[in-house]
Amino acid sequence: MEREIVLSGNPNVGKSTVFNSLTGLKQHTGNWSGKTVELASGFCIYNDIKYKVTDLPGTYSLMARSKEEEIARDYIKSHTSAVVVIICDISCLERNLNLALQIIEIAPRTVLCVNFMDEGERKGIQVDEKRLSELLGIPVLLTAARKRKGLDSLLGAIEIEFLKNDVIQREISNLEDADALARHYVLTAEKISSQCVLFEKSQNRFGKADRFLTNKLTGIPVMAFFFAFIFWLTIVGSNYPSELLAKGFGWLYEPLKNLCSALPAWLSGLLIDGVFSVLTWVVSVMLPPMAIFFPLFTLLEDLGYLPRIAFNLDRFFKKANACGKQALTMCMGFGCNACGVIGTRIIDSPRERLIAILTNVFVPCNGRFPFLLIIIYIFFTGVTGGFFKTLTAALILTAVIILGVAVTLIVSRFLSLTILKGLPSSFTLELPPYRRPQIIKVLIRSILDRTLLVLGRAVIVAAPAGLIIWLLANLHLGADGSTLLVIISTALDPVGHILGMDGVIILAFILAFPANEIVLPLILMCYMSTGTLIEPTELSHIKESLIQNGWTWVTAVSVTLFTLLHFPCSTTCLTILKETKSVKWTVAAFLIPTAVGIIFCAGFNMAVSLFETLSVAAG
Ligand code: GDP
Repeated sequence: MEREIVLSGNPNVGKSTVFNSLTGLKQHTGNWSGKTVELASGFCIYNDIKYKVTDLPGTYSLMARSKEEEIARDYIKSHTSAVVVIICDISCLERNLNLALQIIEIAPRTVLCVNFMDEGERKGIQVDEKRLSELLGIPVLLTAARKRKGLDSLLGAIEIEFLKNDVIQREISNLEDADALARHYVLTAEKISSQCVLFEKSQNRFGKADRFLTNKLTGIPVMAFFFAFIFWLTIVGSNYPSELLAKGFGWLYEPLKNLCSALPAWLSGLLIDGVFSVLTWVVSVMLPPMAIFFPLFTLLEDLGYLPRIAFNLDRFFKKANACGKQALTMCMGFGCNACGVIGTRIIDSPRERLIAILTNVFVPCNGRFPFLLIIIYIFFTGVTGGFFKTLTAALILTAVIILGVAVTLIVSRFLSLTILKGLPSSFTLELPPYRRPQIIKVLIRSILDRTLLVLGRAVIVAAPAGLIIWLLANLHLGADGSTLLVIISTALDPVGHILGMDGVIILAFILAFPANEIVLPLILMCYMSTGTLIEPTELSHIKESLIQNGWTWVTAVSVTLFTLLHFPCSTTCLTILKETKSVKWTVAAFLIPTAVGIIFCAGFNMAVSLFETLSVAAG
């Protein structure tokens, strides 16, 4: 009968390296998860006996929550005559033992291979393999696969396993509740490793940093501080280039207008006042904050901080019956919600993935960022910015983001109690070591992959939007000669008033469905009724125009709330349709945030009116 060796283990424990050393095949050793769903197999000869070697996909558990886990579990269960080699990384043995315990229960013949022995020596980690072997009841071998150390002994131990006739039939832990079972493995792994692993020195020099950054008390305040700091840098850094760009485009306006003077008036108006104005507004307002925020954010990502964010928020997501990895997809949503939606692929459970998709829009994407900032400047911190003003603006923006996170958690909880019922799947979150970020790579990646991508999309959408705006503002249809824009916005006024806004603002949100970044230009244009977009170079002009049209701090808060909480843009909706392949869920993704926004705005305005009535009565 053919003898088969099955290699199993968490991702990145050196499985492919062991596989290559045993079989001589050059299998690719990259380290992204899910690369080996197709099972690799080869042969090796030891003591003149031929063994088939199969490499299972790397997984954190066998609870069959993902395709990889299902493949690994089914393969082990259906190949009971094989010897399963469980490969572990000595630096994170405790976490690896979690999977080992699950494999030992279902595989009659197993060998534990503690790899990265060389790194263990360097880091001062010692493993008592005898004790470990006693506790687990299986042979334990130490290896350094990259240096091909210990592989012969490993093969020797495997051979002995094949010679055994009396394989142990183990009792399978059969706790009813999947969560209790997961906890059982975690606790057992912790107990075993505390008896067999000795750390001579601090395991890694970032241990202390992690104790601070992912601590229950300090983790979240530190995280808020990081974000506030990044926002502050973004605000401070983007003001000046924004102004420069707007001025530059302003200079181009007249020459271009002259150039188009040969064209019919409607066409030149449409091209210059419509398309060109919207395009330049989008570029000058969006490019600078993006060019600053994205590299900074990518830097955090490169440092390895994002998994810590997920770690900090994990317990909150668990309470909301959702998955901690959702925090990572929210981070991706900061750039662009469509990217965030695609990012939810990292969540294994379809239920939790849908929750993450339906709530991603509660993180303001880059299209909404500048608008939020401008509102905050104008109404809450003042137009000319000194240090304290920019700081306050950054803090308010952070508070808005925290509100977005809170709403995400509340809505996730609500969904998991209603249309997406279920319990959270426990997952082992890997905290990768901190790495030195590669600055140049970060710059190139964030500028090419993110900034230009998002900007390109905005430009593509802004051009036709500019066209429609111009048409609406220039078609005089009413009996009194009022424009289509005015007619529609007047019709929307009653709805707007309930939400603390007006018809113009509501119309702007609707027309900005293709790209959120054009909400403010649309509003301004309606107010000025000039038929063209205003060059919003001076924030004080914007403020004047808004206040003349009845804006108060209540309007500003309502608009901020609705900017944070409303339907996703068309690109995101299309992405949701592609990812879920369901019209029903796409419609839900549109309606849920809109309903939340309406509830918040209407609630806020009712509270304000009530307060005003009460204070008048009291006064
Ligand atoms: P897999 O994801 O489990 O297949 O892991 P790989 O075989 O791709 O190994 C991940 C990385 O660890 C690769 O860069 C290997 O060269 C390296 N590696 C594997 N085993 C050892 C080892 O024993 N010592 C050291 N220092 N590096 C190793």
